[in-house]
Amino acid sequence: MERLLMKKKKHLDTEIIHAGYDSGKHFDSLTPPIYQTSTFTFANAEQGEKRFAGEDSGYIYSRLGNPTVKVLEERMAAIEGGEAALAFGSGMAAVSATLISLTKTGDHILCSEGIYGCTFGLLQIMKEKYAIEHDFIAMKTEDSIRKAIRPETTVIYVETPINPTMTCIDLEMVVKIAKEKNITVVVDNTFCSPYLQNPLQIGCDVVIHSATKYICGHGDVIAGIVVGKEDFLGNMAMTTQKDIGGVISPFDAWLLIRGLKTLPVRMDRHCHNASILADKLKAHPKVERIYYPGDKDFADYEIASKQMKKPGGLISFEIKGNKATAQKFMNSLSLIKIAVSLGDAETLVQHPATMTHSVVPAETREKMGIKDTLLRLSLGLESSDDIWEDIEQALKQI
Ligand SMILES: *Cc1c(COP(=O)(O)O)cnc(C)c1O
Repeated sequence: MERLLMKKKKHLDTEIIHAGYDSGKHFDSLTPPIYQTSTFTFANAEQGEKRFAGEDSGYIYSRLGNPTVKVLEERMAAIEGGEAALAFGSGMAAVSATLISLTKTGDHILCSEGIYGCTFGLLQIMKEKYAIEHDFIAMKTEDSIRKAIRPETTVIYVETPINPTMTCIDLEMVVKIAKEKNITVVVDNTFCSPYLQNPLQIGCDVVIHSATKYICGHGDVIAGIVVGKEDFLGNMAMTTQKDIGGVISPFDAWLLIRGLKTLPVRMDRHCHNASILADKLKAHPKVERIYYPGDKDFADYEIASKQMKKPGGLISFEIKGNKATAQKFMNSLSLIKIAVSLGDAETLVQHPATMTHSVVPAETREKMGIKDTLLRLSLGLESSDDIWEDIEQALKQI
């Protein structure tokens, strides 16, 4: 029954509420119970022996599997269109378990230019400690990707859209080359959520989410998810997940199951608010330019339209002036909160040059297009009128 539900049978909006859960197996509880337990009892010694030998499918210990976590994993697999999923205690636990699983000393990882700061840090550790090399390239043409692939390249690691400039990578193009060369394509799909983009359906091999963001949607959990092939994830569950140990708690898994149910409704609102605000920001005389995948003048508008269902809930924009102007603008906001993270009900603003990208050397930052006047907005679920009113009055003060 549960295995059947994992196949993508119904619409995402339906699967996201029902997949992976059979109330008949849980005292008819409408919603999945929180199995807040560290361990599971065996009826007798022989059953314990069988569970450890993999001959009995019952649970053993919550680092190796937990029924509440299992519901989340089956639901995520269903909505991303993957065979299986694994949940982790953070997005970074998901990224690290995946990359350690896929590489060994001497291997090479080819990355999109601009990846999440801590993933950058992890690649640095893997290089220094284990001689696993990496390169960053723009991935804008087939030729540039082919040239950057080495005989040792085992993984292509992509984020799209890329934070904070919203640059998009054509996943279909990447997959085509990777398949020829038998390279695993891993996509960090955090910015889109499974509602806007499904890289597995384009042919990518592994999808990672920081579930902290849109999947949770309420700013109260740190968690990660990996979706992909059953063989690969089964192996990870018994190695880099079990032995490194970055598992999620049953309660956090339950909060994500709860958050997921409204993902389509929330994403529609995030995207709606972003499209309204993008137009208003673009037309404002104190705004230099906007970076938004739904803007027809945006360099990657075509790629975004091809692989994303909607342009997402994030907008970056440059204001006229300098760093002090950007900071004065932020300090003049009242409804909009100054915070990193994204995908919450609250609209959040951050200053990449001094916050998420402050560790990137100024010169590299400049090359990546991250100016001191660039701000990133994560549109929340409030009324777009109120969000704009707050921005407009703050722009007046600079
Ligand atoms: C936040 C984020 C991560 C890291 O996730 P955590 O849950 O904070 O560990 C990875 N990738 C992207 C794109 C993110 O935004």
